[in-house]
Amino acid sequence: MLTERSLAVSRLALPMAQTAEPRGTRRGELPPELDDPLFATAQGQLDQALERAGVDEKIAEVLRYPERALAVAIPVRLDDGSLGVYPGYRVQHSSVLGPTKGGVRYDRGVTLGECAALAMWMTWKCALLGLPYGGAKGGVRCNPRALSAGERERLTRRFTTELLPLIGPERDIPAPDMATDEQTMAWMMDTYSMQVGYAVPEIVTGKPLSVGGSVLRPEATGIGVVMVVEEAVARLGGALAGSSCVVQGYGKVGAVAAHELDRRGARVVAVSDISGGVYDERGLDLRALDRWRAEHGELAGHDGALTNEQLLELPCDVLVLAAAEDQVTAENAPRLEARLVAEGANGPTSLAADEILAERGIPVLPDILTNAGGVAVSYFEWVQDIQRLFWGPDEIRGRLADLMGGALGRVWELAEAESLSLRRAALVTSIREVAAALESRGIHP
Ligand code: NAD
Repeated sequence: MLTERSLAVSRLALPMAQTAEPRGTRRGELPPELDDPLFATAQGQLDQALERAGVDEKIAEVLRYPERALAVAIPVRLDDGSLGVYPGYRVQHSSVLGPTKGGVRYDRGVTLGECAALAMWMTWKCALLGLPYGGAKGGVRCNPRALSAGERERLTRRFTTELLPLIGPERDIPAPDMATDEQTMAWMMDTYSMQVGYAVPEIVTGKPLSVGGSVLRPEATGIGVVMVVEEAVARLGGALAGSSCVVQGYGKVGAVAAHELDRRGARVVAVSDISGGVYDERGLDLRALDRWRAEHGELAGHDGALTNEQLLELPCDVLVLAAAEDQVTAENAPRLEARLVAEGANGPTSLAADEILAERGIPVLPDILTNAGGVAVSYFEWVQDIQRLFWGPDEIRGRLADLMGGALGRVWELAEAESLSLRRAALVTSIREVAAALESRGIHP
């Protein structure tokens, strides 16, 4: 039955059906709702990888667009009695391998095109790890810092209600992203559960432990980064223990990665947050640094201060980028002195910088591989919720190590066999996985 909601879904779902061209969108031409620089980048990366993936052109054309998208308007009663109406989106890129999976972000920059790009990257990330998921992403365009906790709760509950035609434990499973957290996921889980009449913990991941969250989920991305780095250093003929490491971004990913590097015997010589960095060639005392940060709220002002620009150019064995996008650019890439770069953040290296680093022989461990530990443990959370049987931290660490090590191995071997950069090899691996599944299933009807 076509309800008003399902009409909204189908209106945005079919970029090809909307154009004047009866045969669909011409290659290279974006339908207006996807005309966004980030989506153009995601499609550009796909097109580059397709040159080497050996995938049937018709199958490739399907993968260039998101399968389905929903745009909603979210009315929220604000604390001062007025009403705010916020645009929200959910985009599902591919359900070929299973339900879609991806974060929900609250940010002023959220657009349908941005969600579509991030959803496509989630498809590649899940396929690379061999998870039975496709990619999705969603968000609400708002200034989360201007909303009270009560306003955020009402926004989240109404947004979840609007998403009901799309989400579900077998269909699409949200998770936290920028400015959303465990509490947001608990509200989403509760709202969904109230609609169906019983508790459905497996509708979201990244929840608090009290409602079916998983141990190690908060630390998973940072730990996964270090698992990939350790294996890559070994493959390059070195050892992580004793290596000098620099970590840009000391947040949920970077701080965990720095402590994990330290735990494995590496020397963390510099870390930074948005206020600036701290450097000690002998290795930082991270616990003392945490106490300082807890007291002062930021790293700026600590002994050994340096700027983020200086930090990126420090000589080191491993540079972990765990802050934000576009940190290594054509401008600073020629001055980097790291022997290996690991992308803990999404998109921290620009396309131009990537080429410069490749020419300089500096390998880059790409984001869709390196920061996939978060979605891996989200998958474990979903599996535990479905079977109502929970695993301990050692079991989860072991399974995470197997997934990350397996993915790195596949990427490394393809890069060597076909003379590709690690990024290109990661994308080619993922695209081949999804394309093989799509080819087997065929195009319906
Ligand atoms: P966060 O907000 O917890 O931490 C970000 C850190 O980077 C903070 O210390 C912040 O001060 C610093 N920072 C921000 N902009 C900076 C800049 N321009 N220069 C220097 N430092 C800067 O965020 P997070 O969850 O750690 O995410 C970091 C990156 O990792 C993002 O790109 C995110 O998309 C990506 N990521 C996160 C996860 C996850 O599980 N949290 C999973 C996959 C990818």
